[in-house]
Amino acid sequence: MAILGKNKILPLLEKSKGSSGHRLLKFIARCLPRYERCTCKECEVLSGIFGNAFWHENVSPALHHWLNTESATKLPMSAFPHLRRICNSGYIVDSNGNNSFLIHPERMAISTLYISGGRSLLVTPETSYLANKYMKLHQPGFRHERAVVDGFGHSDLLIGEKSHEKVFPHIISHIRLAEQEGNDLTPRKKDSKEALDWGDDPYREYGDFGCWIFALAITFFFLLLHVLFW
Ligand SMILES: [Zn+2]
Repeated sequence: MAILGKNKILPLLEKSKGSSGHRLLKFIARCLPRYERCTCKECEVLSGIFGNAFWHENVSPALHHWLNTESATKLPMSAFPHLRRICNSGYIVDSNGNNSFLIHPERMAISTLYISGGRSLLVTPETSYLANKYMKLHQPGFRHERAVVDGFGHSDLLIGEKSHEKVFPHIISHIRLAEQEGNDLTPRKKDSKEALDWGDDPYREYGDFGCWIFALAITFFFLLLHVLFW
């Protein structure tokens, strides 16, 4: 962060002007190792900072071009100290490092769906395994489900060429079932038992243990989806 100076917004477009600190950070980002390399310099900077977020073969050239020339042209870096605290903690914390969220599961009284990519990238399926158990344990009156979709990594779950065939049906099905069940808050015996069963994740072979901030991020995404469709 100190490299950036006062301006914490990193311009990503190759043609954009930035300070010497910005250029140095982008150079370092391009040099960092990662799963997949790309011929697009903007993509190389972004994946150097975050890690690869999608498998390139899963997204169309048109979408890849749009992502790197129109969608992600600037990257605000000021959130990274917060992200660092979360990663170092191993669970979600507030910007001061306090455990302010997981101690209040009663605030998440809603159905949730977790979708992980089966071809691990950036995060592992175990993130959704843990988040799903957390919600089944603390909100047993709501439907909580999890799917691991083969061939996908992370953001390609939502932006992939075949997402509408392989991923979106899980979302539609979950919304339908949650709507059908309505406000029946009777705790599910099966879910309660599953939540307390800390056996191995059946999808464990897909990846190693990881931090579950991303699973919670996806949780909040689907909470939002659910609110929109409720
Ligand atoms: Zn790329």
